[in-house]
Amino acid sequence: MSLLLDVKGVTKRFGGVVANDAVSLSVREGEIAGLIGPNGSGKTTLFSSIVGAHPIDAGAVLYEGRDISALRIAEIARRGLTRTYQQTRIYGQMPVIDNMRISAPDVKEGILPLFRRAGRASEARARDLLSFVGLYEKRDLLAGSLSFGQQKLLEFAMALMSEPKLLLLDEPTAGINPTLINGLIDRLKRANKELGVTLFVIEHNMRVIMNLADRITCLAHGQVLASGTPDEVREDPRVLDAYLGA
Ligand code: ADP
Repeated sequence: MSLLLDVKGVTKRFGGVVANDAVSLSVREGEIAGLIGPNGSGKTTLFSSIVGAHPIDAGAVLYEGRDISALRIAEIARRGLTRTYQQTRIYGQMPVIDNMRISAPDVKEGILPLFRRAGRASEARARDLLSFVGLYEKRDLLAGSLSFGQQKLLEFAMALMSEPKLLLLDEPTAGINPTLINGLIDRLKRANKELGVTLFVIEHNMRVIMNLADRITCLAHGQVLASGTPDEVREDPRVLDAYLGA
């Protein structure tokens, strides 16, 4: 499998805090990669470094073999590399279907999200993706009236509107009740297999990430502590220590 993402020695500092300290890892085309580590170990910062949300202090991010470190977030997104956030970013006062429309790549820019219009192909894709995540029946409801778990599914569907090649998911199951988690895992796996989206997932829930990921990297204190298959990482004493010592 070829490398889709190659993170080479990325360092990111906030004042005196070294949030990412010479981090190197890779994501292969077609896989589901996992990123774990105790709170404050630098996971979210690494996602921001990858998608161009802030300049990095050292190292390089290669995507499809090209150095994207100096590119802006919108340019990187146009190339098919995008992310979701820990806090959902939906428009609660707009219907579910309109949230999908404004996420379309061909959407016409308007001053307010309401005045943006998507093309016909995007209309069809919006409906297909809502069906895919099981929210088609809810398309005319206000997004803010959905349960938290449904809002996470909506956000996932919105992220898929731009047909990403590589989607970075920041704690997709956080705050979702356990009965809905299995449904979400299933959707993530299907998006990977059926829609061909490579996934890189930050996850706190060990059961989830062990079930979901093909390979996992564990960060601690901004550095890569261990990486390997779920079984290798689960049995690594350094990983256990990092969590117990956190
Ligand atoms: P994780 O996602 O693993 O919980 P983060 O990437 O959020 O870790 O944080 C890594 C470190 O960087 C922490 O010490 C955090 O306080 C610090 N940090 C993250 N973002 C900022 C910021 N914008 N300004 C200052 N410090 C930050």
